Amino acid sequence: MNLHEYQARTLLKAAGVPVPDGEVATTPDEVETIARAMGGGVVIKAQVHSGGRGKAGGVKLVENAAEARAAAEKILGMTIKGLTVNKVLVAPAAKITSESYVGIIVDRESQRPVIMVSPEGGVDIEEVAAKTPDKIFKLAIDPRFGLMPYQAMSLAFKLYDDVKQVRQAAVVMQRLYQAFVDAGGSLAEINPLITNDEGAVLALDAKISVDDNELDRKPAIAELRDLSAEAEAEIAAREAGLSFIKLDGYVGCCVNGAGLAMATMDLVKYYGGEPANFLDIGGSSNPEKVVTALKIIGADSNVRSVLFNIFGGITRCDDVANGIVAATSQMSFEIPLVIRLTGTNEKLAVQILEEAGFSALNDMDEAVEKAVQIAKEAA
Ligand code: GDP
Ligand code: MN
Repeated sequence: MNLHEYQARTLLKAAGVPVPDGEVATTPDEVETIARAMGGGVVIKAQVHSGGRGKAGGVKLVENAAEARAAAEKILGMTIKGLTVNKVLVAPAAKITSESYVGIIVDRESQRPVIMVSPEGGVDIEEVAAKTPDKIFKLAIDPRFGLMPYQAMSLAFKLYDDVKQVRQAAVVMQRLYQAFVDAGGSLAEINPLITNDEGAVLALDAKISVDDNELDRKPAIAELRDLSAEAEAEIAAREAGLSFIKLDGYVGCCVNGAGLAMATMDLVKYYGGEPANFLDIGGSSNPEKVVTALKIIGADSNVRSVLFNIFGGITRCDDVANGIVAATSQMSFEIPLVIRLTGTNEKLAVQILEEAGFSALNDMDEAVEKAVQIAKEAA
């Protein structure tokens, strides 16, 4: 689950990280009022679950309340990477003298949280990582001890020469780590961490992503979920108990079991296709889930064929077959289906499908190859 910048700022502030004040607004009127109360220059920032807002025109510096209103009129309602902006953050404009990067992720290789810092922060950190990786400094954190003061100090010396700033940055890093742990984070990032005209070190932008598996034991964090900011398909899938992740390809995949879903996507790639999604309908037998799954996949205009790959164990093939028949009779589904079923109640499933005018395959390779071929012919 992703948090908005304003939510991440609140968590960082609570952990003791210096963050400039800010208020959230949903209308240009509110923005104008807040800007007037703040006085002087302000920055208006789109609150969407996406980086690169600055480059997309979602971050605007303005001189006064009237300009703040005009900027809000432009930003509210705009789309950034497919997400509509419903909220903006209004904050007093900071006078920036340097921009650094500080981020923490969970690293698979070291099996630990890894903190990364760079003196070259700001909007082009991806470019820094690609072109000058020697300007990014990394350290794996032992979760038994957390980020130790000497470690934070040595990282902070990579960012600043002034010892006062080094000390401030080291404290920021330790508190960021604490906020990351407390939120059940998979990522926590400050970009840019700035120094201002008074020499103070401040977090000007904040991003926290939470590991969904932590939400049950962190109700206060779970409450921060903003459904209005999430892709509709992903909300519908979660409510139906489906694991769904949208991808950029064109072969829709409906599979039972995460492992088989991964293997199916691999095979789609192997046969030269691109999967449109990861979708695991889970182990239980429930035709309703299949109906929801087909609706979600069918709503993606990139999808040119849909591949069902079902290994019937606890999942019964006849339930899936009934789900397919129910879904396609409830809505006009015009995308060609390729169905592969094997295992529990397979014969019954084939019978149900054939009576409804579908054919079913038994071999996974054959089915995947066919789904890719159909999608390519439809291009
Ligand atoms: P992102 O593009 O989504 O990462 O949004 P950021 O919040 O990081 O803003 C992008 C850039 O806008 C920053 O790197 C700054 O250069 C600039 N910016 C944001 N807030 C301020 C501010 O208060 N003052 C100034 N001078 N620049 C700002
Ligand atoms: Mn940023």
